[in-house]
Amino acid sequence: MSNNRYDQIFKKLVKTAYQGNLPEEIEKIRDGDGVTDQYLLYASGGGDPNRVVFKVRGAQGACAKSDDMGEAACLFGAIVRDMEGNVVIAPKNCNGCGECVDVYKHYSLVDKKEFVPLIKLLQDRKVPVFAIIAPAFIGQFGPAVTPGKMRAALKQLGFYGMVEVALFADILTLKEALEFDRHVNDEDDFMLTSMCCPIWVSMVKKVYRDLVPHISPSVSPMVACGRGVKHLHPGARVVFIGPCIAKKAEAKEPDIRDAVDAVLTFRELEQIFAAVGINPADLEEDESEHSSGAGRIYARTGGVSQAIAATLNRLRPDRKIKIRALQADGVQDCRRMLQDVLEGRINGNFLEGMGCNGGCVGGPKVIIDLAKGRRTVEAYSREAGLMTPVDNRYVMELLRRLGIQNTADFLDSSKAAMFIRDFERRN
Ligand code: SF4
Repeated sequence: MSNNRYDQIFKKLVKTAYQGNLPEEIEKIRDGDGVTDQYLLYASGGGDPNRVVFKVRGAQGACAKSDDMGEAACLFGAIVRDMEGNVVIAPKNCNGCGECVDVYKHYSLVDKKEFVPLIKLLQDRKVPVFAIIAPAFIGQFGPAVTPGKMRAALKQLGFYGMVEVALFADILTLKEALEFDRHVNDEDDFMLTSMCCPIWVSMVKKVYRDLVPHISPSVSPMVACGRGVKHLHPGARVVFIGPCIAKKAEAKEPDIRDAVDAVLTFRELEQIFAAVGINPADLEEDESEHSSGAGRIYARTGGVSQAIAATLNRLRPDRKIKIRALQADGVQDCRRMLQDVLEGRINGNFLEGMGCNGGCVGGPKVIIDLAKGRRTVEAYSREAGLMTPVDNRYVMELLRRLGIQNTADFLDSSKAAMFIRDFERRN
């Protein structure tokens, strides 16, 4: 039994759920060997609702004692051995970052798939369900799948609409530029961006806690987008689609769990389209959106810093202390940078970390390779024309509809509450 088999089970469940005969299919697949039953459970969205990554016990080879010290790979100390020496996950340490799922396939670790419980909701169409899609999506489903075609394909699945998270990355770019302006006023000041990457945020919150006071008090673009959609469409549900397992865990964090109801990965979406016979490339174009180049380059490492530096220059051209950005990508690189900060060995004042090599375009659940993903993201950013959100009237209009009348409102905690996160508080 392999993760491949797990994906096959998921596809079968999706197909039969859309056909309306899911219970019969589950009975057909169930074979009582324990392993298949657990794959069925996690592929259909069951199991502990607060957890994301599970060990499938009893899978072939998975519980064998091994000299391979896989537990060393878990930064959070959650891969451990039980009394019999079997490799297991310690739920209280696991934050669902998903780093282990593909690296330690031989331990039969799987991430829960959250789509099947949504299918009835999508088919009934009584409640509007919005798909919000990560900036890295461009090019992932083939060169012919434009944002307009992706929107059309998601509507065929039953979604009410699609919003590009890049629009809210634009909004957070403005907020982060203003946070930098507020917090970095001295050559020794520095700020860690809290944006985008849940692995980076978890590392700071759980391992490098002394740095928490330097982290900017902002939610991620995913959370901002989920909250924005729900503000504009009361009663709506929101499903995030991205390249990352860790977003499934971020969406469950107690202080932000209001924003997003379920998370799918690009690979899962590809499997869903295949299961129900939708080819997005064949569909008519739906409408497009108007995010800036800034929000669109969040998908690759360095994009956040570049977007925020350009926006700060646009807002405060005479500012003496400019952004001196340092970036790290990949868990080891992020660790090194955070350790350097703790030990006073940095000369940057704006620190951006992303848990995956290359940023989100190198995420564990992307479909195309990193270099291609990066090129496509760059081209889409250039296509936007406007580099910063300051000059983007669509972003400014969206902000007004969300209750932010001018940039100063971003620093007013009563007006900008939906974009603020308190990292000092322990969840
Ligand atoms: S999901 Fe992340 S925290 Fe949990 S066991 Fe895997 S690597 Fe460790």
